[in-house]
Amino acid sequence: MNVGIVGAGIGGSGASFFLKSYVPQAKITVFEKENKIGGRIKGVKIDNHYIELGGSFYHSSNEIIAKLIDSFKLPTFEYNLPTFGIWNGSEFILKSHTRTFITALRMLKAFKRDVFRLQRFVSKSKKKIAQLYHLSSKPYSSLNEIVAEAHLSEWLAMSTRELLEREGFGEKFLSNLIYPAIHYIYNQGLEVNGFAGIATLLASDGSPIRSIQGGNYKLLELLLKQADADVRVENEVLSISKDSGKYVVGLNGHSPETLTFDIVIISTPLETSSMKLEIDNEVPKPRPFQKGTVSIVKGLATPEIWGVKSPSDLPSLIMTTENALENLISMEILIDQSPEIKYYNLFSKSPLSKAELNQLFVRVDSFTHKEWTHAYPILRPLEELPPIVLSENLYYVNAVESLASSMESSLISAKNIAMMISSNHSNH
Ligand SMILES: Cc1cc2nc3c(=O)[nH]c(=O)nc-3n(C[C@H](O)[C@H](O)[C@H](O)COP(=O)(O)OP(=O)(O)OC[C@H]3O[C@@H](n4cnc5c(N)ncnc54)[C@H](O)[C@@H]3O)c2cc1C
Repeated sequence: MNVGIVGAGIGGSGASFFLKSYVPQAKITVFEKENKIGGRIKGVKIDNHYIELGGSFYHSSNEIIAKLIDSFKLPTFEYNLPTFGIWNGSEFILKSHTRTFITALRMLKAFKRDVFRLQRFVSKSKKKIAQLYHLSSKPYSSLNEIVAEAHLSEWLAMSTRELLEREGFGEKFLSNLIYPAIHYIYNQGLEVNGFAGIATLLASDGSPIRSIQGGNYKLLELLLKQADADVRVENEVLSISKDSGKYVVGLNGHSPETLTFDIVIISTPLETSSMKLEIDNEVPKPRPFQKGTVSIVKGLATPEIWGVKSPSDLPSLIMTTENALENLISMEILIDQSPEIKYYNLFSKSPLSKAELNQLFVRVDSFTHKEWTHAYPILRPLEELPPIVLSENLYYVNAVESLASSMESSLISAKNIAMMISSNHSNH
């Protein structure tokens, strides 16, 4: 079985790995248009610190990624944010404290019974999302089937606002806590579908959030190696067409060529690629995408603009309410090296201007940024998700991003597709 995979992000690397473990005789070629693997998992080394600029953290309830990392014995570190604050444009409407007890009192004062409601809701939701991992081990031919079997269709069809209002949460809680959290993760608001919105809240129960030491790309390297995949970087797939039951893949590598495969797995959002698909079935409609810019600043933040006297008085993570700031969405201290030297991660709608940097920092020792023009789809409530089977033997991992865009969701989709291929193969 000759399989071509388009894209060497976590989806394509995961698909290679799972396919090889289910169908050991599969011969896998992975095409990546950039000069290295990773896709939206990308980082930079600054002063010996590896800092992620894209896919960074996974929650301990993300069973697939957590198990893979464990099985490869990759060392991880825990994402530890001692404090957070919610900024409304003129003041912090909520600031947590290093002592949980004090934070709890502040939360109670701000949101009253919604705090207990959140605890109960998160614990109930975790169990519900966990059902995704306890489905029967058969492959599913559509994501809608998976979502329905895990009893999550309603969450997909409702906005996060509708869902949480139905659960009894008040407006203050929604706009002053939930909106800032979703804004921080997705540069979107309460209109994201309920599944995506609830998934962002799972971290609020205090369970660990982790990242791979030295870079998440290390997992992808191991997945591809284990799959014995022929990884061809700087090989852009320009077209996929069908000829006599096989797929002809047109490439623009070092020299243009075409290659033929029994099966092709597309593991990139179709919207981010100019690849031409010549298939009998209809190609999924393009989805609007959200952009976002991640900036890493080594230096010292200006405390006064946040109403505090010293940079050390700033919360480790600042999230913002709707329209609090024109461009900046969040600012977090990644590494608190000393009172004078800190590394900050800033997430903004567009790249920060020089004037914005000068306002935000009293001193900038180094600055690097990554503008993501297609960070993730704009996540809206949906009755139906795009197809994962585009045509016979042509699969699409990133349909799943209409449900939620994360490292784990790409892996869930990739694993299901690998199972589907294996099941079709053994039925022949
Ligand atoms: C700023 C930001 C922060 C994020 N933070 C988190 C986080 O903390 N936790 C989390 O779980 N998720 C996070 N995500 C989401 C997560 O990074 C993505 O959902 C995930 O990495 C998507 O992986 P993928 O392999 O499906 O797609 P991609 O990573 O986009 O991979 C697609 C690959 O295909 C290649 N490609 C495209 N077209 C072609 C072609 N024609 N020929 C050959 N190759 C092609 C691309 O170059 C790319 O390498 C974040 C995303 C962003 C942008």
